[in-house]
Amino acid sequence: QAKAMGHGSLRFFSPEMSRRAKERLALEADLRGALERGEFSLSYQPQVDLRSSELVGLEALIRWTHPVRGNVPPSVFIPLAEECGLIVELGDWILQTACRQIRRWTDAGLAPRHTAVNISAVQLSRGRLLDSVTSTLEKTGVAPEQLELEITESFVMLERELSFQSLADLRALGVSLSIDDFGTGYSSLSYLQQLKVHKLKIDMSFVRDMMKNSSNAGIVKAVIALGKSLGLEVIAEGVEDSDQAHYLRDLGCDVMQGYLVSKPLPDDEISKFLADFSKRKPIF
Ligand code: C2E
Ligand code: MG
Ligand code: MG
Ligand code: MG
Repeated sequence: QAKAMGHGSLRFFSPEMSRRAKERLALEADLRGALERGEFSLSYQPQVDLRSSELVGLEALIRWTHPVRGNVPPSVFIPLAEECGLIVELGDWILQTACRQIRRWTDAGLAPRHTAVNISAVQLSRGRLLDSVTSTLEKTGVAPEQLELEITESFVMLERELSFQSLADLRALGVSLSIDDFGTGYSSLSYLQQLKVHKLKIDMSFVRDMMKNSSNAGIVKAVIALGKSLGLEVIAEGVEDSDQAHYLRDLGCDVMQGYLVSKPLPDDEISKFLADFSKRKPIF
């Protein structure tokens, strides 16, 4: 907001606000150069089928190693990148990096069925996403079926017209679509049906204490039932212990992702994880 009003308006802020505004500007300035300096990387977190225990997918998650601040979490810099428009360029880099990695895994016989990439609302609304996905798949030789895109529920519900067309185009390309952080937005059921996405990801906040909190358990059950009735796959995020895994499996949830299986790992470690997974003891 300070930016929209012009830098001169900063002097009307309280010292604390001004300190925070400066901090933001500094971080934003660092963010602009971070891509060129090679400070970003992707980590990958496994997704495991709750019935067969097979490793069915991975989710790519961005990491920023700042030379001074160290690891800056995506919850801090993604919103900043969205506000300053950098997310479009960064989003292309994420897509390319993930697809190159998928290609290497495919060549090595290690690729899981799909790898999911998080897409920001801003990437969708700028309208270049379809071109970007199409050309990245072509350049890297990755099959559309190997790529999944995660879009948050709140965006899909806020920008109905826009997301409807963009998602239809992406679907036609053959990539699969999942709705991230499901349960936190206000989905209309009929709209959800029209969208024809493939998966729902139950938000971590409901999974976290569903064993103790009956209203969260109720939401988890409702999302699973909804997924079933619409013919969608349901993934639970943030599964940390085997009690949660068993509970979810008994409710009919299809896939889990969380620290129980593994934290997100950098590409060399996840490659080793993929190679060793079938030899491991069952996790739950
Ligand atoms: P998300 O897409 O819902 O990702 C799930 C987050 O939960 C990740 O945090 C992951 O590390 C964390 N997580 C996974 N399993 C567990 C668990 O068992 N326990 C706990 N406590 N946490 C778990 P992360 O990597 O910090 O990412 C946070 C959010 O930042 C993501 O939420 C996503 O919205 C955004 N983000 C991350 N990477 C990207 C990206 O490449 N592009 C875009 N546009 N957004 C990204
Ligand atoms: Mg996600
Ligand atoms: Mg999520
Ligand atoms: Mg999230």
